[in-house]
Amino acid sequence: MTTLTKESGAGAPADSGAFLSVRDLYVRFKTEDGVVKAVDGLSFELERGKTLGIVGESGSGKSVTNLTILGLHNPMFTTVEGEIVLDGQELITARESELEKVRGNKAAMIFQDPLTALSPYYTVGRQIAEPFWKHTGASKKAAWDRAVEMLGKVGIPNPKERAKDYPHQFSGGMRQRAMIAMALVCDPDLLIADEPTTALDVTVQAQILDLLKDLQQEFGSAIIFITHDLGVIADMADDIMVMYAGGAVERGSVNEVLRSPQHPYTWGLLNSMPRLDSDLSTPLAPIPGAPPSLLKPPSGCRFHPRCTFQGEVGGARCVDQLPLLPAGRGGACHLTAEQKQTIFIEQIKPRLR
Ligand code: SF4
Repeated sequence: MTTLTKESGAGAPADSGAFLSVRDLYVRFKTEDGVVKAVDGLSFELERGKTLGIVGESGSGKSVTNLTILGLHNPMFTTVEGEIVLDGQELITARESELEKVRGNKAAMIFQDPLTALSPYYTVGRQIAEPFWKHTGASKKAAWDRAVEMLGKVGIPNPKERAKDYPHQFSGGMRQRAMIAMALVCDPDLLIADEPTTALDVTVQAQILDLLKDLQQEFGSAIIFITHDLGVIADMADDIMVMYAGGAVERGSVNEVLRSPQHPYTWGLLNSMPRLDSDLSTPLAPIPGAPPSLLKPPSGCRFHPRCTFQGEVGGARCVDQLPLLPAGRGGACHLTAEQKQTIFIEQIKPRLR
């Protein structure tokens, strides 16, 4: 299973041997209003062939983390500290020319909106072929054949002909398939999928998720799957990391996190999911309040302004003290293990049925 390590990174070896190791990652943006603490001391690891689902609301740091892994941040306005090691190669200190070799070859990304990732000026086939000849040194003819093969693999009918089409001639679902083909053309060891199905209807969404699972089986890639949808994560991931305000607040296997969640924010996420078997007149239960500004994150527990369980902890601990995420399974919360279990069984679980 994916190994998820201690949040603080204290005592963590510099090289754990994991395929991807992120340690004590801090990402900050300079803005006119001040410094945005987009990622605040994040650590995790991922093994080959496994899928890590990262969930959280907009602004939780999940997309920034993954753009930083691929070196896609703007160095003019961004400060990155910590360590990102992919297959033994340190990426934060890598030169742009080294990162270019990693991107599309060893690691690739599938974006939420294929229209922003695909150029309207080139055929779909050319855009899939380009990273292949660039990274492998294959001839343009061989790269084109490979692009056609990949379009066939992702389920585009008549790929030989459709490779000559431009992105606007494809439907939304086909464009997303084409982007998956582009991401996988060099057989990357790490695939980062950032909300890859959000813009698609439910049927196409299910087809794309099945396709990703099949391709992972075939290519053996490690996948980081970013979403706000716990239902999708349940279907796709081996492990889950829940992010809030730039940090991880809970992690564990899919089974552990969905069956026995350890953090009030995770309880809120589960509680706010629509259920097929619930009465249509039953309102959803959104998490109160809004995600905090990362220009000036809340003191202590970042979730405290929205948490209804502070009274159980007592005193001002939630406001004053940042709870750390324990090594292995657990949640970054001052509630005791007994309190969490009692609250979950008595107050949260009945609402999830
Ligand atoms: Fe809520 Fe306090 Fe736990 Fe934070 S530490 S999640 S505020 S109970």
